[in-house]
Amino acid sequence: HRPARPHRDLVRSTCMAPCSHKYNPPIRIMQWNILAQALGEGKDGFVRCPLDALNWNERKYLILEEILTHRPDVLCLQEVDHYYDTFQPILARLGYQGSFLPKPWSPCLDVEPNNGPDGCALFYRRSRFMPKATAHLRLSALMLPTNQVAIVQTLCCRVTGRWLCVAVTHLKARSGWERLRSAQGADLLQSLCSITSRGGNRAPSGTTPLVVCGDFNAEPSEDVYKRFSCSPLGLTSAYTLLSSDGHTEPPYTTWKVRPSGESRSTLDYIWYTPAALSIESLLDIPSEEQIGPDRLPSYHYPSDHLSLLCDLSFREEPHRLL
Ligand code: NDP
Ligand code: CA
Repeated sequence: HRPARPHRDLVRSTCMAPCSHKYNPPIRIMQWNILAQALGEGKDGFVRCPLDALNWNERKYLILEEILTHRPDVLCLQEVDHYYDTFQPILARLGYQGSFLPKPWSPCLDVEPNNGPDGCALFYRRSRFMPKATAHLRLSALMLPTNQVAIVQTLCCRVTGRWLCVAVTHLKARSGWERLRSAQGADLLQSLCSITSRGGNRAPSGTTPLVVCGDFNAEPSEDVYKRFSCSPLGLTSAYTLLSSDGHTEPPYTTWKVRPSGESRSTLDYIWYTPAALSIESLLDIPSEEQIGPDRLPSYHYPSDHLSLLCDLSFREEPHRLL
């Protein structure tokens, strides 16, 4: 018998918008690097994680339980190597439309056995959104194609008629690759700029509000983080609103022990357009005690990354002057 998974609070803060939407509930966004099964068993070397906790036939239920506990309207996942046999069929039955983009040379394919390449997946609730456009991007760095990808989904909210563009990505991992990550971020920002302002993809009211979910593999001190926070798209990182000063990222979004040692870092983000969207609540980050001495993954937490979740709503549209 395993103890119940620690509860995570949905936190509302004073700087967050009030919520009073009987007919227009906020849009719930979930971001999560779920740990590719082939990498978790075959490459990562999580020396403090019990082997049992990495068994796919148990771990998949923990992943699904976490998703279904929160029932997000939009779900952005990285390291998905069980799309066709697990997430797509199960989530489709629960009312989600999904899209999957594998990495061109997924490291999962080096592991034997594997279940195919890992990649990014984006799901949205069909009852909530109408699809407007989907872009599958292979990220470039200085014009050269890389092994990292992004999905950009333009949606129209059925309740409000408002448009929303959601992107999911997983940038190049490891230290030494900071400049590649920065270049990949620049490429993604450029694509997002053109997608959100382009004729056919653009909201009828103007530029489409944006949400970018990702495992950026970059601490907030890195170049790529600065690029995102200073871009012409006017993006803010949602989880900074959890901090007491309103500007600081959480202390960690991933925490693991490999043979090389313990690694605790903030790599995952939900970026959004504060001019058009307001954050109403955020799912709290588990404490060190909740995570436990063996860190992640574990029997309680099926991935080495924590899920991020926020509720956001459209701001009133400013009156347009003719
Ligand atoms: P990345 O470097 O971006 O990382 C791949 C995965 O490894 C990520 O999911 C990352 O997880 C995880 N990871 C990060 N740090 C470590 C670590 N210290 N130990 C173990 N895993 C870690 O991968 P790329 O997309 O650049 O692919 C690299 C791999 O792909 C190579 O190993 C190579 O074998 C293969 N490849 C093959 C090619 C070919 O021609 N056949 C061409 C290119 C690549 P997280 O994001 O959670 O940190
Ligand atoms: Ca990983």
